[in-house]
Amino acid sequence: MPVAAGSSAAVLTARAGVLGLQGDFAEHLATLDRLGVEGVDVRRPAQLDEIDALIIPGGESTTIGKLAEQYGFIEKLRDRAAEGMPVWGTCAGAIFIAKEVPGHPHPLAALMDMTVDRNAFGRQVDSFEADLDVPDLGAKPFHAVFIRAPRITRVGPGVEVLAQLDGGMIVAARQGRLLATSFHPELTHDERFHRYFLSLGKG
Ligand code: GLN
Repeated sequence: MPVAAGSSAAVLTARAGVLGLQGDFAEHLATLDRLGVEGVDVRRPAQLDEIDALIIPGGESTTIGKLAEQYGFIEKLRDRAAEGMPVWGTCAGAIFIAKEVPGHPHPLAALMDMTVDRNAFGRQVDSFEADLDVPDLGAKPFHAVFIRAPRITRVGPGVEVLAQLDGGMIVAARQGRLLATSFHPELTHDERFHRYFLSLGKG
């Protein structure tokens, strides 16, 4: 089981990769740096063997999917996830790791048993912020930034819902060592989600 958020850096993953093909990977690398964890900007599939965990950032899931396929990431990523490497998709990254994305004819890693709806909030509410109740991170609400965010419309039996918006929309979930968030924890200075993710490999 993941250790409680806020526990010492000693239990965190040693080297964490951030998929640097497209999107806001630099913000994730900066967050890892603040946590004292070595971050690796992953640009080649062989680098997946050099890391203990992988974050797939927000950006454009169509572009991330196409580039990942073009550079030969998908098979290797599936192999590493099957070996137990923790993988976290934020926003576009969550789309990329979902098994089902209706109406999305682009390559997916398809790791996590969930259905994700892209751009689920429509144009009127392109971006918004919300304070989420995330019991696994402790009592303090998590301030979440949503940018053209997806939502999780179905989770499989092995998937635990970590956070929902008022009204029940699922915006964070975990399946073993796979984590998905619709929002962008790397854009705030609350590192609890990063700590939580980095503890998953230690369980
Ligand atoms: N709407 C984007 C997509 O479908 C995701 C947006 C984001 O990552 N902030 O890929």
